[in-house]
Amino acid sequence: MASARAARRAEASDRGAPGWEVMLDAPPVQVYFRAMQTGAPANPQKINLRRPDIMEAVQAQVLTHYRSELVERIRAGGGVLSSGELTVKLAKEFGFCYGVERAIDLAYAAKKYFSEVSPQTPIYLLGEIIHNPEVNDQISNLGIQIISPKPTDEELSHLQAGDAVIIPAFGTEVGTRKKLEAKGCRLVDTTCGDVMSVWKRVRQYSKESVTSIIHGKAKHEETKATTSQARAYGSGHYLVVFTLADTDYVCNYILNGGDKAEFLDKFKGAYSAGFDPDLHLQAVGVANQTTMLRGETEEVQRRFKAAMAKKHGEAGLDQHFRFFDTICGATQDRQDALQKLLLEPMNLLIVIGGYNSSNTSHLAEMGEAKLPTYFIKNAGKMASEKQIVHYNQHLHKEVETRDWLPAGKITVGITAGASCPNNLIEDTIRRLFELRGISVLELLKNHEPPAV
Ligand code: SF4
Repeated sequence: MASARAARRAEASDRGAPGWEVMLDAPPVQVYFRAMQTGAPANPQKINLRRPDIMEAVQAQVLTHYRSELVERIRAGGGVLSSGELTVKLAKEFGFCYGVERAIDLAYAAKKYFSEVSPQTPIYLLGEIIHNPEVNDQISNLGIQIISPKPTDEELSHLQAGDAVIIPAFGTEVGTRKKLEAKGCRLVDTTCGDVMSVWKRVRQYSKESVTSIIHGKAKHEETKATTSQARAYGSGHYLVVFTLADTDYVCNYILNGGDKAEFLDKFKGAYSAGFDPDLHLQAVGVANQTTMLRGETEEVQRRFKAAMAKKHGEAGLDQHFRFFDTICGATQDRQDALQKLLLEPMNLLIVIGGYNSSNTSHLAEMGEAKLPTYFIKNAGKMASEKQIVHYNQHLHKEVETRDWLPAGKITVGITAGASCPNNLIEDTIRRLFELRGISVLELLKNHEPPAV
């Protein structure tokens, strides 16, 4: 895993994203001390959580919790493991991304730092560090207290100046951050750099009085944080569209007008306060949640561009339309790798990850379009060869499928979302072979690890 982590750091560095190499040279992570006596936002004093001694201990702990030697060996051997009549094929890219690794490392580092320097300091986490229940349980087991992603006034009343609060990888809303700062909390900000680059773009749209059209899920924490950036200067507006049908509805309104009340009702909860479709769709800028399906996001921007060109003419397009591709590199790589895997003959696909993980749900969507696909959060969902319990994202609930694992010679594809640790992928592989009566341990004994 260490070498895989190094590869991802290099990948992030190549992209110019704030991966490890960049961040290690960057100023200390944002952990602010406030004036404890007054609770006032005095000069923030930064703590360096990236001290070598802290990071060394943290990385060892993280490896213990999430590493899988089995997955590393299969990966090093070309991503395929076969025995008897079962072949398992891994996508080339899957699992933890650089943003997730960074967020987890920082949460563990915060725990280590405060345990040593100020053990009485409570450490809180806003919601989930990433969208994976097993990882969040581990964080909770460290003694980090989980509070709402958007703490209520009641929750905030329990927080004291000096308490540490971890902001998750997908960020938090501007208003929440301000409240925590006003209380004098020390913020451990793990927001992924790729998310922050969307914020930058949306703030720019807002400054230019361009309404941000965000392609994403209005209720997803990242999208909520992003939309709050559109309001950061007080005057900007936003509208969230999730489907191509939403996009067509808005484009039609731009071109032909329509029933304003119906529009506002249809998108309730997905636009800024005071948004008026008759006034605020004159100039639009498209951005997206970082983890959307690339093809769909491209289609959203293409349709908005076409609508604006039709309404304002090609010559007026620059004034009325902006677009910036904000799909993150890790999401893209995982989608590309799955697309490639799906070209190979397979009987079924297993997608592992948290059910509220956006990038994982898109991987499952890609699989569903080609072959039987089972979206599971852990190996325990594969009860037997006859029964699997898996998430149906269209019904928003777990469903049971019988006779899911065909008899005879089969190939099973496996991928996992950016928030899924390798140990859960290993459990899944082991379980698959176990269901066919094969011990992976025995199997690997006959496969020497490849020469390094
Ligand atoms: S999926 Fe993308 S945006 Fe989200 S944490 Fe990973 S790298 Fe960052």
